[in-house]
Amino acid sequence: MMEYLLGKNLQELREAARECGLKPFVGDQLAGWLYGKRVTSWDAMGNISKAAKAALSEKFALGTAAPVGRAESTDGTVKYLFPVDCINAAGAEERSYVEAVMIPEDDRRTLCVSSQAGCKMGCRFCMTGRQGWHGNLSAADVLNQFISIDRPDLLTNTVFMGMGEPLDNYPTVSKVLEILTAPWGFGWSPKRITVSTIGILPTLKTYLEEQRCHLAVSLHNPFPEERAAFMPVQKAWDEEDIVGLIRRYDFSGQRRVSFEYTMFAGWNDDKRHADALIRLLRGLECRVNLIRFHKIPDFPYECSSQKAMEAFRDRLNHNGITCTIRASRGEDILAACGMLAGKHAEQ
Ligand code: SF4
Repeated sequence: MMEYLLGKNLQELREAARECGLKPFVGDQLAGWLYGKRVTSWDAMGNISKAAKAALSEKFALGTAAPVGRAESTDGTVKYLFPVDCINAAGAEERSYVEAVMIPEDDRRTLCVSSQAGCKMGCRFCMTGRQGWHGNLSAADVLNQFISIDRPDLLTNTVFMGMGEPLDNYPTVSKVLEILTAPWGFGWSPKRITVSTIGILPTLKTYLEEQRCHLAVSLHNPFPEERAAFMPVQKAWDEEDIVGLIRRYDFSGQRRVSFEYTMFAGWNDDKRHADALIRLLRGLECRVNLIRFHKIPDFPYECSSQKAMEAFRDRLNHNGITCTIRASRGEDILAACGMLAGKHAEQ
């Protein structure tokens, strides 16, 4: 397989140009086209000579790939399906499919991106978890989700909340964050980027030390033994230790932390859970997002009622923890993460 230019930082693009006998500034031009203008073809790179493109394309591919599926919701949400070739657990190259979802909201267009093909974490309520892990995405695979959608120039924000656990593929995520935030890259402020994790403690510490982007932590239940029943990660890294680590960092400025809490009727949505969550998060500058659960096959729980969600939200707010119910988007296009990719893989 040819090496990709997409996913290289500025220094690496300059080096790629040098390897092809070209001046290093061609690397700057490549960064301008790939990350600044977000083009997907050599033809679109107007100021690079034909000879330079020929030399580059002998050794490198751009690394862009068009989506193989696209579904648009009545609310404007668009889900894309991208092919990726990853190295799986057996060390073999495997073709998989990952999803990216563009969510329009007021003057924002947020892209929810995938970081892995499948996932190792095995959360019982998650379609991606059920597929198992089929490999880590490369920086090119992740950035392709940003540039091969319709009107990539209109994107304003991103969340790493698609398929996979971003902190289980931190080298890729870190590289993508570098390219998204660098002036020679996308030039985005870290305030426009949120990385979501279920809490891989050692890598979370690295993330908090190295990055300035927002953090979202998937909690879903404040009681360790109940959480462990649905989320095996709890057995390795306890949620109290995760919150304890987060407390050591400053979230009063630009960087924010939020806790994702998917609501399941009869599992995590009563007063007992609200009170335990309040105790767990008391004094921490944070927000709790309540998320509607999208029913998946062969899983016994349903989403909590609107009434239960509102009562839970109000209890948190009355106790000083900012809590909102996240608007559900794209329900008519199989919104639950991993559903579309799973269907495609089955086909
Ligand atoms: Fe992986 Fe996230 Fe699904 Fe858990 S919820 S299995 S971490 S993709």
